[in-house]
Amino acid sequence: MTAKQPSGDPGAAAGLPGDAPEPGAGAHVVVVGGGITGLAAAWYLIRSHPHLNVTVLEATPTLGGKLAVSDVAGIAVDEGAESFVASRPEALQLAREVGLETELVAPTAFHASVYSRGRVRAMPRGQFMGVPTDLRALAASELISMPGLMRVPLDRTLPATELAEDVSVGDLVAARVGREVVDRMVEPLLGGVYAGRADELSMAATMPALFREMRHERSLLTATRRIAGGGMQAAGARRGIPFRGIVGGVGRVPGAMAAALVGSGVQIRTRTTARALRRVTGGWEVELGPAPSPEMVRADAVVVATPAAPAARLIADVAPAAAMELSEIETASVALITLAFRSVDLQAPLAGSGLLVPPVEGRMVKAVTYLDQKWGWLGEAAQREGVRLLRLSLGRHGEPEVLQRSDEELVALARLDLALLLGIRGIPVDTRVSRWGGALPQYAVGHRRRVERITLGLRDVPTLALAGATYEGVGVAACVATAYEAASRVARGLALQPAASRA
Ligand SMILES: Cc1cc2nc3c(=O)[nH]c(=O)nc-3n(C[C@H](O)[C@H](O)[C@H](O)COP(=O)(O)OP(=O)(O)OC[C@H]3O[C@@H](n4cnc5c(N)ncnc54)[C@H](O)[C@@H]3O)c2cc1C
Repeated sequence: MTAKQPSGDPGAAAGLPGDAPEPGAGAHVVVVGGGITGLAAAWYLIRSHPHLNVTVLEATPTLGGKLAVSDVAGIAVDEGAESFVASRPEALQLAREVGLETELVAPTAFHASVYSRGRVRAMPRGQFMGVPTDLRALAASELISMPGLMRVPLDRTLPATELAEDVSVGDLVAARVGREVVDRMVEPLLGGVYAGRADELSMAATMPALFREMRHERSLLTATRRIAGGGMQAAGARRGIPFRGIVGGVGRVPGAMAAALVGSGVQIRTRTTARALRRVTGGWEVELGPAPSPEMVRADAVVVATPAAPAARLIADVAPAAAMELSEIETASVALITLAFRSVDLQAPLAGSGLLVPPVEGRMVKAVTYLDQKWGWLGEAAQREGVRLLRLSLGRHGEPEVLQRSDEELVALARLDLALLLGIRGIPVDTRVSRWGGALPQYAVGHRRRVERITLGLRDVPTLALAGATYEGVGVAACVATAYEAASRVARGLALQPAASRA
């Protein structure tokens, strides 16, 4: 499941009419899960091996999983993911390949503030996942207290922190630059990406580059400066803007992908849950549909692109050790509450793209995104409709009760925190509650070793592969990378050669 780049070679997709079909060309590959990972796996399979039969199975009525878009106050707004990182190519390339190149946009505002010590304060420039690199900027932000600030430079004189195989982000950062940096800077950023807690999340899995750097660098400040500088120069992160969105919402990508897949002959079946997976002579049998009247589908290879729990259930009989490891990966649930206010009712000045709220502040809300300031296309639409659009995020690992509240309660909690944090007291003209139960896998300390054990557990089944947010990163780009790797694995398992190399 190591991330690999897609070939991106148009020749690989050409289909090359008249070619002799490769061995195993008519094989049937079933992809379980129609989120971005499953769709990307199917795309890569059909582009590289046009003679394959590929079927995508999706349990719900709609494709896309955590990529979805729906209307708020008559404006299409993402319900889940809203951007891709620009520092790695996979998601951007996929969007281009399915015809959305001209719709890729950088955010118009991307600096978030932090609510800390009773006030909204600018996140100091130069930080990397909340670890500061510019101590002057940190001091000017007043984000942490004076004693907290004085503690930070001790990092340069303290003896090296012994790094075991892995360590929690909270433990390492607190040991080097002090607890306040963890509580007020790292927590809100990790809360945004993983909905997790710094003291539980793995440094090796969530900040791999920085963890590697710390193996031969005593100072966290120095290591972070190096990493942050490199990240900005990485491919695609032009002008230092680290994200891209899509005009009309990232949730448009699944529809564009579905059209491209169907056009390439891939069969897509929604409302179809894969219930069990069995090895049969020469391949696989996938059990679908209701238990009393199951349908059996024959496959030569299977890609499981679901979250960890259904993946564990599916592979329990064929790779029990891997299934056990998967079942131990915990998840966090989040709710996103999108509110539309009449413009006249929201006159409070809001700076940048949004506000992060560290848990230490004791509020329910962990982030507020100023949607119409962050995305130009949303700003134009909101102006046309005479509204302002805010999206609030609630829920962290260990707080499953958040999703048990009614929509009305969640909206009320969001409005209460908006009033307390930003002084916004208007009555919204439209609201939307998006619930994402068990949506974000928690990369606990030791996660990378666990993923290695899962990979090992699949060693003897080369025509079965796993992909998705559970393994190598929760972001869309990382999911797409695992999809390409899973597709390559089963293609190898079927002894297929990429189309271009057969030409
Ligand atoms: C609220 C939120 C905001 C996010 N924001 C961002 C962001 O801005 N940028 C970013 O890069 N990442 C973001 N992420 C993370 C990212 O969106 C996800 O990690 C990624 O979309 C996961 O894709 P996936 O296809 O692996 O899984 P999913 O989207 O979960 O798709 C899996 C699919 O499998 C289906 N399925 C499950 N079991 C079965 C079965 N047995 N049979 C058939 N189908 C089945 C499910 O119905 C689902 O559609 C966000 C995540 C959340 C929750």
